[in-house]
Amino acid sequence: MQVIETIHEMHQQMIAENKQFKKIGYVPTMGYLHEGHLSLIKKSKSENDITVLSIFVNPLQFGPKEDLSTYPRDFERDYQLALKEGVDYIFYPTVNEMYPTETSVKVMVQSRTDVLCGRSRPGHFDGVATVLVKLFNIIGPNRVYFGLKDAQQVAVVEGLIQDFHFPIELIPVETLREHDGLAKSSRNVFLSEEERKEAPALFKSLQMAKQEMENGEHDIEKIITLMKDYLKSHTSGVVDYIEIYSYPQLEPIQDSTEKIIIALAVKFSKARLIDNIIIQK
Ligand code: AMP
Repeated sequence: MQVIETIHEMHQQMIAENKQFKKIGYVPTMGYLHEGHLSLIKKSKSENDITVLSIFVNPLQFGPKEDLSTYPRDFERDYQLALKEGVDYIFYPTVNEMYPTETSVKVMVQSRTDVLCGRSRPGHFDGVATVLVKLFNIIGPNRVYFGLKDAQQVAVVEGLIQDFHFPIELIPVETLREHDGLAKSSRNVFLSEEERKEAPALFKSLQMAKQEMENGEHDIEKIITLMKDYLKSHTSGVVDYIEIYSYPQLEPIQDSTEKIIIALAVKFSKARLIDNIIIQK
């Protein structure tokens, strides 16, 4: 496994792999790896000749009041985990390498951003899309792997790939959970002992909503209220949003809707957690 820190070297290596007709699978992350990330790596390993992992905490996708400076980092640990999984390259650039000057061009995501995390984290998806344009150009993967825990991100990146004509296939990967249902996340380390005990309520509330819908409840507001009440009584967290839309369009549900996403974000004292369930209508 090679660790590459410069754009130039990464680009050259990928061109060389390409010349040998190697299929390149790519897993973009912000590091502090957990089993959710590893499931993306495993899938890439099983479907490609080469797997590239990038570790980059992208300042552009954090708001001024968000957790950029405290975002958990441990490169040595990530290195060992990636090595064990058989990753071929880790791209590990510095902020200065990726943004030597203030960017003169930024990507602006126009649709699907007035809901869910797009609404509560203004500019977040512009930052994600901008760094991905750079990373896709540097790495030139055949397939890119994203987790459905960030389902809005999957929908936005699918749009980016289509609109900018990247010859890349996006592979969405199911959310990996702890035994009690809590979605694995790098931010879970910031939960206090008490909050950690409460956190499985997020997934429970999603399952409850799914059950309601499957039982024929069509009143979205009623379901959301039910979830809010459940989270209020089972956690000390503050609900940031609970929303239900068509997926991947992220629009109000209509007769023609095929898939529905029930998504939420809850703020605990030091961590904002998100989760969702996608169901067939
Ligand atoms: P992050 O490092 O948080 O930017 O995540 C990198 C990638 O891992 C993203 O595509 C996430 O959606 C994915 N991911 C994060 N948590 C999970 C999880 N619990 N299960 C599956 N994928 C995940």
